[in-house]
Amino acid sequence: MSQSTPRQDGGTRPDGTEYEVQKSEDFWASQLTPQEYHVLREAGTEAPFVGEFTDTKAEGSYSCRACGAELFRSSGKFDSHCGWPSFFEPLAKDAVVYLKDASMGRVRTEVRCASCGGHLGHVFEGEGYNTPTDLRYCINSISLKMNPTSANAPALPA
Ligand SMILES: [Zn+2]
Repeated sequence: MSQSTPRQDGGTRPDGTEYEVQKSEDFWASQLTPQEYHVLREAGTEAPFVGEFTDTKAEGSYSCRACGAELFRSSGKFDSHCGWPSFFEPLAKDAVVYLKDASMGRVRTEVRCASCGGHLGHVFEGEGYNTPTDLRYCINSISLKMNPTSANAPALPA
């Protein structure tokens, strides 16, 4: 079962400012695969343990698959064993924005790309993971693109 929250906020961040990257839903639908579109633009959730980056340990940064903004770094990634890539902090405080999401009968905090508003996942706190922040950014692999820092790393398909 996939759950999704229809987007009702148009092109506006939670603080009322506009996302820098403003594209029509038709544009995103033409740029993204149907699966990517479902997660990024319809706040869908990828199935656990199948995502491309769930167990990735390569060094580098992770950017938004929709707009390319850098969002997370491998140094902020940790093994949560929850089935999705998990980070304890974003690359920069203003790289992501937060929305209250009450779609599944409990209030969760949704995480979106601060540049285009693409849905990334959710953030949970106080779960007791041994990380510097006690936060778990539970992010869909399909919302991300990995940019390895090592020159020897295999090139990713464009
Ligand atoms: Zn984005």
